[in-house]
Amino acid sequence: MTDPNREGAVPHLAVIGAGPAGLAATVAAAALGVRVTLVDSAAEAGGQFYRRPAAGLRARRPQALHHQWRTWERLRDALEGHLRAGTVRHLTEHHVWFVERRAEPDRGFTVHALLGPEQEEPAEVRADAVLLATGGYEKVLPFPGWTLPGVITPGGAQAMLKGALAVSGRTAVVAGTGPLLLPVATGLAAAGVEVAALVDSADPKAFVRQSRALAAQPGKVVEGAGFAARLLRHRVRLLARHTIVEAHGSERLEAVTVAHLDGDGRVRPGSERRIPCDTLAVGHGMLPHTDLAETLGCRLDGLGVHVDAEQRTDVPGVWAAGETTGIGGNGLSLAEGHIAGRSAAARLCGTAPDPGAWAAAAKVRTRLRTFFAALDSVYAPPAHWTEQVTDDTVVCRCEEVTGGAVREAVAELGAGDPRTVKLLTRAGMGWCQGRMCGPAVAGLAGCELTPSRRPFARPVPLGVLARAGETDQQ
Ligand SMILES: Cc1cc2nc3c(=O)[nH]c(=O)nc-3n(C[C@H](O)[C@H](O)[C@H](O)COP(=O)(O)OP(=O)(O)OC[C@H]3O[C@@H](n4cnc5c(N)ncnc54)[C@H](O)[C@@H]3O)c2cc1C
Repeated sequence: MTDPNREGAVPHLAVIGAGPAGLAATVAAAALGVRVTLVDSAAEAGGQFYRRPAAGLRARRPQALHHQWRTWERLRDALEGHLRAGTVRHLTEHHVWFVERRAEPDRGFTVHALLGPEQEEPAEVRADAVLLATGGYEKVLPFPGWTLPGVITPGGAQAMLKGALAVSGRTAVVAGTGPLLLPVATGLAAAGVEVAALVDSADPKAFVRQSRALAAQPGKVVEGAGFAARLLRHRVRLLARHTIVEAHGSERLEAVTVAHLDGDGRVRPGSERRIPCDTLAVGHGMLPHTDLAETLGCRLDGLGVHVDAEQRTDVPGVWAAGETTGIGGNGLSLAEGHIAGRSAAARLCGTAPDPGAWAAAAKVRTRLRTFFAALDSVYAPPAHWTEQVTDDTVVCRCEEVTGGAVREAVAELGAGDPRTVKLLTRAGMGWCQGRMCGPAVAGLAGCELTPSRRPFARPVPLGVLARAGETDQQ
């Protein structure tokens, strides 16, 4: 399949991900004269933050579920202008599974995607450069009962609320750790769900220790105060330094047991209490999506893609922006996307990038990176969360591997790292390829979570792989 935007002398940038980072990058690059193909797996632009109700639901006030709606309107209008002018192409429902660097003399990149909800039809986009803006995904840690129907992630609850105007029950507990718990608890409460408790393992004293770094972002402090006021208004009980010990139910969730954490992050014996609920939205922060960057050979910094001041990765022709470089929320993604788009456009057009043109965005980026680094040290799962994982708790859902099997692999079969645990137990070999169970397996094996170097970003039908091979041989 050829890409019409490849024709002609105008340089062509493929942006993967149409969330805040990808949209900001697309608009910035297109405004500087580069042709952009924006590729995203979702049916509409917006990513996680600007997810909106499907058109068929005829929501009268979709902005009611959002803050910073004006920013979305500006991005949407700019994108629509470029789409009309033909400077941007937006490929929706394109699930990118691989980005290939073409050899000399052709150079450039081929983006391989699978089309539509069935993800069986292949599609290719050829471009001179690639900008990765694939965002992040939620970190999930297991505990007894976490696989019961009714237990979901905070992002899942938020996606249902924003995308389908639906809630998954009448009484919810929102739990885990991270800033996402706040919009989820207030969003569910505003939608009429009784939020029985917001259970966060973070220690309020840790906020005090980081107060200088946090107070340097007054806008964020006001945002946090706004959430606190809404929690109060909806009478949501805040249980700080608490954790979920167990989810109960026969067919589906009926209640959860929560407990207080001591100073070491261990459950305080005797502090357990039961809260009836039919929904538990539980998550422990987010992790960057780095699969595409890893297969391109981009260096990582910790768990995110390493970028320089222009948002360039260390692979020539590849930029990265937003949560793929590290978790930092919508504002940071917008700033990074803007810088990446401008830098990519300048370099593709052969002009010297002008950092003065993105000085304001760079300032925002510095401030928000500092803020989120401080926040990251405050929001952490309980230090001893693995003690709650009983031997019969399922850890890898795809392959139904239990905590006991992982412990046995480590203690009795000598596995010293997640890869050996995987080979011995099949944990991480299923459909999600360890995206969900990776942090749990690493924790139970007593290892740091490291990038898993998956060959493809999505499961690929064998037929598609076979056809890709045929194309290569031509
Ligand atoms: C489920 C979920 C819900 C969230 N809800 C909120 C919220 O309500 N409020 C809040 O403040 N923060 C929320 N967040 C945090 C949010 O991720 C950031 O605030 C912000 O959206 C990050 O912007 P981004 O552009 O970096 O990434 P994203 O917004 O995540 O955008 C990434 C885009 O890349 C696309 N993509 C990823 N991989 C591929 C691929 N292989 N092929 C094609 N397309 C791909 C995705 O479809 C997505 O559109 C949520 C996060 C998650 C995971």
